[in-house]
Amino acid sequence: MHKRNLTDLTNLSKTEVKKFIDSFDVVLTDCDGVLWLDNQVYEGTPQVLNYLRDLGKKIFYVTNNSTKNRNDFLRKAEKLGFVSKKEEIMSTAYLTANYLKERNFNKKVYVIGSKGITSELDEVNIKYLPIGPDVMKYDLLEYIDNFKLEPDVGAVIVGFDEHISYIKMLKAASYLKDPDCLFIATNTDERFPVSNSSAVKPGSGAIVKCIEIGAHRKPLVIGKPETYIAQAVEKICKIEPQRTLMIGDRCNTDILLGTRCGYQTLLVLSGVTKIEEVQKWKESSKKEENDLVPDFYLNSLGDLLPLIN
Ligand SMILES: [Mg+2]
Repeated sequence: MHKRNLTDLTNLSKTEVKKFIDSFDVVLTDCDGVLWLDNQVYEGTPQVLNYLRDLGKKIFYVTNNSTKNRNDFLRKAEKLGFVSKKEEIMSTAYLTANYLKERNFNKKVYVIGSKGITSELDEVNIKYLPIGPDVMKYDLLEYIDNFKLEPDVGAVIVGFDEHISYIKMLKAASYLKDPDCLFIATNTDERFPVSNSSAVKPGSGAIVKCIEIGAHRKPLVIGKPETYIAQAVEKICKIEPQRTLMIGDRCNTDILLGTRCGYQTLLVLSGVTKIEEVQKWKESSKKEENDLVPDFYLNSLGDLLPLIN
């Protein structure tokens, strides 16, 4: 049974914090909103993760972000001061390519997404149709009259695509008319955290929903809170759920994944979820809302630093 204590770690004594640190061997951490926001690192977070690594804990970066490949993530993490290895990076673009590779997929992919996805497909020698802007150049009815599907497309991957367009929706839904064509979504996050509070930045989930409705089909979702990402970690590292810590800033992806897998969970308030929301879910009589409540929380992961020094 999940504890759902919602304990503020800064209220614990040094002895209790030490007990908490000793209670896990593996850390799965989200990135955006936890370690950094865009290219801005959150103060103290590299020191906290590097300290846990020095204690011998295994660290994995589990991110729903599909716009980067593993090498991009590795470079970013290192530049911002995190000691990291490529095999620790569990990003949805990588895992999506890996999923197709595991199935010996040998057709082409129609990708709604960016180079983050296509460069991971390159790594496993999977072919895809060109990405980038694809907009209506003439009349829609005329376009549909002349519309032809590319042969040999066996999967549609949907991730974050800043060039999403009606033409792309039409193509994806048309390929998905074939029930043998796989429909894979990297993730379904509704929004990205943003530094400018007057902007709302819709995420891949908004795009996936468009395709889902038009195609009359549900995708296989690779990212959190679906557990494929945790299974991928478990393939390279033995996991004891109670001795594993999931850190995240978003309860309906990060914390829910932790709850589903039986991990301990730590919410940081430096990203998407607000404490008032969590307090409401804690009091709720609905299990699906209780499942969003973490064991622990902190304003920022860097706040752990004075507690462990
Ligand atoms: Mg996040």
